[in-house]
Amino acid sequence: MKIGFIGLGRMGNPMCRNLLKHGHALRVFDRVPELVRPLADAGCEARQSAAQCATEVDVVITMLPSSPHVRSVYCGQDGLFSVVDRRTLLIDASTIDPLTAREVAGIATERGNFMIDAPVSGGVGGAEAGTLTFMVGGDQRALDAATPILQCMGRNIVHCGPAGNGQVAKICNNLMLAIEMIATCEGMTLATKLGMDPKTFAGVVNASSGRCWSSDTYNPYPGVMDSAPAARGYVGGFSSNLMLKDLTLASDAAKAAGQPVVLAAVAQQLYQMHVSGGNGDLDFSSIVKMYANDLFLTSVSADKQG
Ligand code: NAD
Repeated sequence: MKIGFIGLGRMGNPMCRNLLKHGHALRVFDRVPELVRPLADAGCEARQSAAQCATEVDVVITMLPSSPHVRSVYCGQDGLFSVVDRRTLLIDASTIDPLTAREVAGIATERGNFMIDAPVSGGVGGAEAGTLTFMVGGDQRALDAATPILQCMGRNIVHCGPAGNGQVAKICNNLMLAIEMIATCEGMTLATKLGMDPKTFAGVVNASSGRCWSSDTYNPYPGVMDSAPAARGYVGGFSSNLMLKDLTLASDAAKAAGQPVVLAAVAQQLYQMHVSGGNGDLDFSSIVKMYANDLFLTSVSADKQG
């Protein structure tokens, strides 16, 4: 297939490479030229604009930072809707707010285009390995057409319902993840402060009712789990910046729906403080530092002395 791919950042680049591996022909564009060149070297056709990327292709995929970028790339002057053929399938894999996703999909439908929202989980590692999960909102026929393409980049494809529901699933899942991560940080640091060995406490929790993904797979407390970002200084993983972004999307969507989300609002503020403190690029489990910074400082100075 001929595919236009717009947004070649941390996720878009490896997703393009997996599409190339499966034999698809790619036209690519990013507003940052340095991000286009390595993909051109890998065999993609470089284009000078999003619109150029979207002409004479079977599929357009967008992987952009957030709602305003998606709105402008699709609906802006010289945007995709001003050029794209009616037979072209549109896939937006960015994480954006569900209302914008529904609005853009509505315009696509009026023009006669199939469009799905297909935000992902799995992070950069999943994008590189081709094991992403796609949460899809849109018409079943659009999903059927998109499935062979999504399978080149991901392992799980979940149809969440009509347009915008992929985004609903994504931001509500991440709202729950942020709250459970903060709860895990509180429990882990309190138990430690009260005299328990953190690894022993995590073992108790993970065999008890406090267990959750943040405690048994991604424990934020240093020294508990070799495979978690806590074991490598919180470098890599899912950034605090992105968690703050998703919590803000969830809070905004809740406001628009008139639905209280009390703990999400607190989580959003905690992540705002954490990011403002210079931790935006660190994995989101680094929020444990807000509870135990004295402990981290002690261990760092002990390391230096050692
Ligand atoms: P990124 O910032 O690395 O990449 C986005 C790219 O879009 C940038 O290269 C930027 O230059 C480009 N861009 C912005 N506006 C543009 C425009 N008008 N025309 C062309 N290009 C434009 O972000 P990312 O980490 O690749 O994430 C992309 C999306 O995936 C986001 O919505 C993010 O929330 C979501 N996501 C990211 C991760 C992750 O771990 N990085 C995980 C899950 C979901």
